[in-house]
Amino acid sequence: AAKKQPNAHWCRFSPELSVQAHERVVMEHDLREAIAQRHLHLHYQPQVLSQAVGRLHGVEALARWNHPVWGAVSPARFIALAEDSSLIQDLTRWLLEAACAQMARWRKARLPVPQLAINLSARNFHDPQLAEQVQAALTRHGLQPHDLVLEITESVMMDASAAAVANLHKLNVMGLQLSLDDFGTGYSSLSHLHRLPISELKLDQSFVRDLESSPAATALIRSVLSIARSLGMKVVAEGVETREQSEWLQRHGCAVMQGYLFCRPVSAAQLEYWLRAQSAKTTGA
Ligand code: C2E
Ligand code: MG
Ligand code: MG
Ligand code: MG
Repeated sequence: AAKKQPNAHWCRFSPELSVQAHERVVMEHDLREAIAQRHLHLHYQPQVLSQAVGRLHGVEALARWNHPVWGAVSPARFIALAEDSSLIQDLTRWLLEAACAQMARWRKARLPVPQLAINLSARNFHDPQLAEQVQAALTRHGLQPHDLVLEITESVMMDASAAAVANLHKLNVMGLQLSLDDFGTGYSSLSHLHRLPISELKLDQSFVRDLESSPAATALIRSVLSIARSLGMKVVAEGVETREQSEWLQRHGCAVMQGYLFCRPVSAAQLEYWLRAQSAKTTGA
């Protein structure tokens, strides 16, 4: 009887696991192709200033993959897949190129996009060539370092390897702004916060979601805002979906907001349309 259970376990799960493993291999292959063939694309989500209605702080670029058979694959899924293989390097190289090319088009068209934020993976910070790659992309497109913001996750700080810390400092010295994404969900200690050249915290959307229902979430947001203020950092609230959330955040001194309430992540063309509608609103046209 003692033997029966592990066997039963295997019989039930083994075929399913192998299907999953197979699907993973196929997907990894397809993702490699998609990166090589430039089949990924970017969506853009505005980040609005809470004190100047209609004014933009910046835009975040979010990667999208439409698989010919599976349709839209969620970034959570394909980014994880890329991180588990060596594909994340190729993906980030593509991302830097695509994001800088778009920013250069906006600059040329005099569109008021103050800065473009892109997401980097913890693994990118172990790459000793990261800073050179970023510089090369900026130069290729005639951009300045302050045109780009690099969003990093707390896992970069967690392992805080020598290479990662060196990259953070190099990028900061080059003039790039570093923003800590999904803040509050990881394990970064407060000592990391003031030792590393981070200029912005992105308050994770889970706290914003619980803003109206959970006193604990509310207390947490208040203390994040207060810590950020004393360290001279900006806070961007993510996942703002309701008028109530936005008003609360504005009242409590959160400088920047991002979320469906203002605009979903959209194509470059849709973002340009949104920007025009926005400026028509503020100029009263
Ligand atoms: P993130 O950087 O924290 O991005 C915010 C996520 O929240 C995005 O999900 C965005 O679509 C979603 N979001 C924005 N506003 C709202 C809202 O009001 N309500 C709700 N419920 N969600 C909102 P998305 O696009 O699925 O991306 C998921 C994650 O994938 C990103 O989280 C980021 O960590 C990663 N990611 C996306 N693009 C890239 C990329 O190019 N490179 C890397 N390394 N990671 C990326
Ligand atoms: Mg982000
Ligand atoms: Mg986030
Ligand atoms: Mg996230």
